[in-house]
Amino acid sequence: MRIIFLGSPGAGKGVQAQRLAKKYHLAQVSTGDILRKATRQKTKLGLQTQSYMEKGELVPDEIIIPLIAERLKEKDCAHGFILDGFPRNVTQAEMLTEMLKKMNLSLDTVLNLKVSTEKVIKRLSARIVCQSCEAVYNTEGHLPQVKGICDYCSGPLYRREDDKEETIENRLKVYEKEMIPLVEYYKRKEILVEIKGEGIVEKVFQNICAVVEKGWLKKKQ
Ligand code: AMP
Repeated sequence: MRIIFLGSPGAGKGVQAQRLAKKYHLAQVSTGDILRKATRQKTKLGLQTQSYMEKGELVPDEIIIPLIAERLKEKDCAHGFILDGFPRNVTQAEMLTEMLKKMNLSLDTVLNLKVSTEKVIKRLSARIVCQSCEAVYNTEGHLPQVKGICDYCSGPLYRREDDKEETIENRLKVYEKEMIPLVEYYKRKEILVEIKGEGIVEKVFQNICAVVEKGWLKKKQ
C-alpha cells in the first residue's frame, strides 16, 4: 500500500499516519520529522534547512526531492509507505510520480484531511511533541501521563519552534497557496479522497481505514 496524506499543518496527518503505519505495517515517511531530526543533530541537511523551517517556508525542492528519492529506496518502504508532509507542491508531486514509475510502482490513495482554519490554529497553539518519537499531545486535552514525558518512549516533550503564532500564520499562507493546485493534481488522477479531520481521533481513524481498505480491495480485483 502506498498512501499520501495531504492536509494543512495541524490537520492531524502525523497522528493518523502513525496509526495507519502501525496497523498495516507500512513505513511512515514524514519529511518534517526527517528535517527536525537533522536540525537537532546539526547535520549538513539540518543546517541547510533550519532557517526555512523556522520561518514556516518550504524547503527548496532541490533539497527535498533527492531526500525523498533516497528514503523511498530504503528496505522498510518495500512493503509500502505513507507519505506525511510530502509532496507539498505540484513539482514535488510530479517528481514523485516519475520516481514511482521508474520503480514500477503507483499510489493507492491520497487522503486529504480537512480541518477548519480556526480549529487548526487552536491545535497548533496547544501542541506539544515528543523529541524522540514525534508523538503528538496538546495542552488543551491530550496531556501525557507524566508532565513533559512521552507516554510511549519516555522522550522529552517540547513545543515545536514553528508552532509560534507568527510562524503558524505563514505556514497556513504557504499551505493555502500550494495546496489548491496539488489537490487538483490528484483529483485529476482520481485517487484523492477527502476525509473530515475534526472530531474524535479514533473516529477519524476508522473513516480513514474504511477508505484505505476500499481502495486497496478495488485495486486487488
Ligand atoms: P511539517 O512537520 O510537515 O509541518 O513540516 C515542517 C516544516 O518542514 C515545513 O514548514 C517546511 O519548512 C519543511 N518541510 C516539510 N516537508 C516539506 C516538503 N515536502 N517540502 C518543503 N518543505 C518541507
